Amino acid sequence: MYAYFEGKFVKEEDAKISIKTNSFHYGTAVFEGIRAYYNKEEDQLYLLFAKEHYERLIKNCKILNMKLNLSVDKLVDITLELLRKCNWKQDVYIRPIVYFKDLAISPKLIGYTPEIAIYTIPLGDYIDTSNGIKCIVSSYFRINDNMIPARAKVCGAYVNSAFAKTEALMRGADEAIMLNPDGTVAEGSAENIFIVRNENLITPPLSANILEGITRQAIIKIAQEDLNIKVFERDILRSELYVSDEIFLCGTGAQVSPVVEVDGRKIGDGKPGKITKKIQDYYFKIVRGKVEKYKNSWLIPVY
Ligand code: PMP
Repeated sequence: MYAYFEGKFVKEEDAKISIKTNSFHYGTAVFEGIRAYYNKEEDQLYLLFAKEHYERLIKNCKILNMKLNLSVDKLVDITLELLRKCNWKQDVYIRPIVYFKDLAISPKLIGYTPEIAIYTIPLGDYIDTSNGIKCIVSSYFRINDNMIPARAKVCGAYVNSAFAKTEALMRGADEAIMLNPDGTVAEGSAENIFIVRNENLITPPLSANILEGITRQAIIKIAQEDLNIKVFERDILRSELYVSDEIFLCGTGAQVSPVVEVDGRKIGDGKPGKITKKIQDYYFKIVRGKVEKYKNSWLIPVY
C-alpha cells in the first residue's frame, strides 16, 4: 500500500519518522479522519467531505501555529491520487496528520517545520450502527478551550478521549460521553452527540468544548432542509440524557450510531429510535452517492 510522506507517494513501509520527532513526544500535531465509500453497483469510490476536512485541518494548523504551504485543493488532489494508487474497492478511512518534523526537544509551537503525512486503511463500522450502543458518562471531564482546544483535532487532546473511552470499555460499555466541568454535555470520545426530545434534535453548541464536527453540521442541514426536523443548539445536562426519547452519536468514523443505554438507563424503549434511524438511512444513502442533491457537492468520485 502507498502513503503520502515528505512530499511524495511512497510505499507505506517506507513512510517512517525518527523517534526524535518533536511532535511524537509532545502530541503537538493535528489530524483528520476522512471516509471514502464504495458504491458497488457503480464500481465507484466516493470521497466524502474532502474539502471540509482539509479546510478544518488548515484552521487547526493555525491554532497550533503551523504554516502548512499546501492549499485545500492541492490536499484534495493528493488524497484522490493516493486513493487511486491504492486502488481501493471497499470503504476506506483516510488519515492525514500534520506534525513538527524537527528532531528537537522542547514543547513549543514556534521555530519548527510542519510536515504532512497521509495514509489510508479499509474501515467498516468504527462503532456499531445497527443494534445501538451502551454509553457511560465519563468521570473524566472534557478538556476546555484554554487547556487544549477541543475545536481542533490535536493529537495530544486524544489522551483525554483515551481516558474516557477506556473507562467505558472497562465498565462494559461501548463509548463514553464527556461532560464539561460545569456539568454540561460536551461530546463522545470521538463523536458529537445529538438527543431527541419531542421529535426535535438537540445538540451542544460549538462553545461547549466540542470538535466542530463535519458530520454534526451535515446532520443539522439534512434534518432542517430535507427531513423537516427542528434542531436546537443548546446546553444539555447529564440528567437530560436519561430522559431523552433518543440519543445518537455521529462522526466520520462513528457515522450515525444509535445509543440505547446511558449509565444503565434505557434510552426510550432501549432500541434505536425512529428519528435516529430516519437520519441514519438518509445519511447512508448520501455517502454512497444515492442522493442527487448532495452527489456533486459533498462527494468526489475517485475513479
Ligand atoms: N468529536 C471528536 C472528539 C472527534 O474525534 C470526532 C471525529 N473526528 C468527532 C467529534 C466527529 O467529527 P467529524 O464529524 O468531523 O468526523
